[in-house]
Amino acid sequence: MQLKDKVAYITGSASGIGKEIAILFAQEGAKIIIADLNKEAADATAAELKATGAQAIGVAVDVTNEDQVNASVEEGAAAFGGIDILISNAGIQIVHPVEEFSFVDWKKMLAIHLDGAFLTTKACLKHMYAQGRGGSVIYMGSVHSKEASLLKAPYVTAKHGLIGLAKTVAKEGAKHGVRANVICPGFVRTPLVEKQIPEQAKTLGISEEEVIKNVMLKETVDGEFTTTEDVARVALLFAGFPTNALTGQSLVVSHGWFMQ
Ligand code: NAD
Repeated sequence: MQLKDKVAYITGSASGIGKEIAILFAQEGAKIIIADLNKEAADATAAELKATGAQAIGVAVDVTNEDQVNASVEEGAAAFGGIDILISNAGIQIVHPVEEFSFVDWKKMLAIHLDGAFLTTKACLKHMYAQGRGGSVIYMGSVHSKEASLLKAPYVTAKHGLIGLAKTVAKEGAKHGVRANVICPGFVRTPLVEKQIPEQAKTLGISEEEVIKNVMLKETVDGEFTTTEDVARVALLFAGFPTNALTGQSLVVSHGWFMQ
């Protein structure tokens, strides 16, 4: 067990990638705080984990709200005795060409992806520094942390920004043994992506099959989607790494869509 008795606060973990990370981390011995906007789904996910013998709780949080972030981190830390791992993963997607993007939607995207990452980092670092047992901060970036696509201006902007935040946290956290890294997945078939397929087909004037083949998976080495399990494995690598040797990094897991 690579994460025995570590406490992991995972945002957006009632669905998709975050949920898969919660499942793998629980199998590896971690105590899991399922922090999500959807409290009912968070509680259901926590119940699923508990049914396997793991320790887990669901907490309600809107990651753009400072009071809610602080309260949910405190609730999780009080339940399990601190915080060792933060996975800042909650995210949404809104697609439009730049000239049609409303300022309201732009700000909403940056708030969830960047304010959420900042607020959860600030709240969790306090515990990691005070505990004196190190820690791991992991941001859910994207291939869009490195590369742009049509229609995704705020998403691409925010995902690039996470790399800057991770590098800074890596430098500041080093003396406390706190590492910070970014995972950059390619397309993964979660509800977030299922929603985009018909939207992009409509905006680009092509079929849904063409969106998958010629837009989403076109540049991969094998035409395959990345899976939630693939991403969870990378999260485990970052979370379980024992030293500051692996910090300030961003790792792309995308079937070769983007090669560094
Ligand atoms: P998902 O829609 O399956 O899950 C997202 C979760 O985040 C949901 O449970 C939702 O309730 C929660 N959430 C949304 N807004 C929130 C808020 N303000 N506060 C708290 N929770 C909130 O999505 P997913 O595909 O699993 O995406 C997870 C992360 O992975 C996102 O940051 C996304 O940008 C990133 N990502 C996804 C893909 C992909 O192809 N699916 C690729 C690269 C990166």
